[in-house]
Amino acid sequence: MFRSLHMKLVMILVLLITSLMAVVGAFLLTSVSNYYLDDFYTQMNETFSDASFYAAMQTEASQEDGAQRLQSLIELYAGSLGIDSRSRNYYILDADTGAFLAGSDEAAGAVLGQTANILAARNGSVGAQGDLTASYMDVAVPVSGGENRFIVYIRDNRATVSELNNELLLIILQALLVGLLVSVLLSFLLAKTMIDPIEKLTEGAERIAGGDFDEQLEVESNDEIGVLTNTFNDMASVLHDTLSAVENERSKLDALFLHMTDGVVAYDGGGKLMHCNPAAVALLDRAPEDCVYAELFEPLCPFSRVMSMKRGDYAEAELTVGERSVELYFAAFSDEEAGGVLIVLHDVTERRRTEERRKEFVANVSHELRTPLTNIRSYAETIRDANGDIPRETENGFLDIVINEADRMTHIVQDLLTLSRLDSGRTEMVMARFAFGDAIDAVLRSIALDARRHGHTLTRDYSDRLPYILGDRGRIEQVMLNILSNAVKYTPDGGHIRVTAGDLGERVWMEVADDGIGIPKKDRKRIFERFYRVDKARSRESGGTGLGLSIATEIVQRHNGSLSIVERDGPGTTVRLELPVRPGEGAPS
Ligand code: ADP
Repeated sequence: MFRSLHMKLVMILVLLITSLMAVVGAFLLTSVSNYYLDDFYTQMNETFSDASFYAAMQTEASQEDGAQRLQSLIELYAGSLGIDSRSRNYYILDADTGAFLAGSDEAAGAVLGQTANILAARNGSVGAQGDLTASYMDVAVPVSGGENRFIVYIRDNRATVSELNNELLLIILQALLVGLLVSVLLSFLLAKTMIDPIEKLTEGAERIAGGDFDEQLEVESNDEIGVLTNTFNDMASVLHDTLSAVENERSKLDALFLHMTDGVVAYDGGGKLMHCNPAAVALLDRAPEDCVYAELFEPLCPFSRVMSMKRGDYAEAELTVGERSVELYFAAFSDEEAGGVLIVLHDVTERRRTEERRKEFVANVSHELRTPLTNIRSYAETIRDANGDIPRETENGFLDIVINEADRMTHIVQDLLTLSRLDSGRTEMVMARFAFGDAIDAVLRSIALDARRHGHTLTRDYSDRLPYILGDRGRIEQVMLNILSNAVKYTPDGGHIRVTAGDLGERVWMEVADDGIGIPKKDRKRIFERFYRVDKARSRESGGTGLGLSIATEIVQRHNGSLSIVERDGPGTTVRLELPVRPGEGAPS
């Protein structure tokens, strides 16, 4: 109730009523005084200007006991002069001295004093000057008869006016009291109609400040408060929409930060961590609370330098975390005070590895081609320089080497072409259904002679009813042949090569196990890389290019299959080929 607005309302009403009452009171009291003053002088004027009364006074004054006679006469006219001996009295004074001779109030007459009107009468004129500020009203009329000169002096001590004024004052005070009571009641009424809607608005604003936009405020009137409530509702709904849009944007950004592969770390202007997405945590390999700028990034790009950057500027740096290479981009995200530093982390490990591999590949290709070229050149030069001086067989032997090296180069170039076509997707797989077992049989037949030449025992151990699969038979056989010819190549003469196969429902498999030189553990993964050979000299001797398994891997991958080395004890190697019976939807064809 004593909320400030309510208090102000009460104060305004109280002040209004008090000042109104004061004005009305002052006006009323002055009017009453004026009325009485006017009434007194009118009454005096009417009585004293009555010629018969004045003549009678002169007659009575001319007598020897003029004062007493005058007194008797005035007593007769007491009614029309309003003499009541209480508030209004008459006095008969000596006109020469102003001394009191007779009157209705002797006690007062003795101490009458000389008023302005008495002095005027003593000078011979009627003293009838009214003074609103004086505590009395008087009139002094000179009366002379013969030798005698008197003054008839009427004086009203305003007791009636004062009483009336007091009465009025009391009424005004009572009215003021009632007015004040009414003003308090009115203020309640006004509070109900004015302050209640404002309080409701305040409650609504508090609700909205707390994030609750569900309820609209009721519009109860068409006045300014109604308009304000309407505007407030509109504002709340616009605010709600804006907040929803902002929230939407925020969750989009959150989702983006959460799922993006690049890491994002943000620090506020004081260097405190604000945000660190999961990708950044993974790339930096540390918990968000350990991502301290000073520790991690200060040596790469000082915080103050980033903070002084302009919009659109950024700095780059690179960080190595374990085996990972991470590219860093530093930028200030706002040049205002509330700004900070944003770091985007981009994993370039794979790119770096690819670059390395590419460099290695180019170096390998150059190396692989240079060796046969050097051989060809040196043998050709020897034949030329000999100028027909070397025996025919030796020359033929040299020429055989030249032809062999040229064949090797052709091999390498063909393999490289095959790989390049596979890489670029230019090689079409001619998909058809064929019996997996038949393909193995065909490859075994074609390798049998070679195996026999090396004295190997070639055994097959698989069902005749292996399922049909969908694939490019020619390519699959190429893969199988590569695995088998490797087994023949890398097994000392007189070895054992065993081919097994089976089906796993949705997939079929083939394993080629030999008891040859085997592959050291550390090289097992790498033999599928281009040009990788465990023993370069041996591979070259046996006509290998180091590309066979790379090509095989590419072909198998195009069929959604896998090629691997089986981890097992004992001498030799087991290579496993696994293929789906039917390459799934979207599988390369
Ligand atoms: P290459 O033409 O040199 O045979 P591959 O890509 O077919 O090239 O094989 C890569 C390397 O893997 C070979 O150089 C060889 O060192 C190793 N390797 C493949 N198969 C066998 C195996 N059965 N036994 C031992 N080493 C093998």
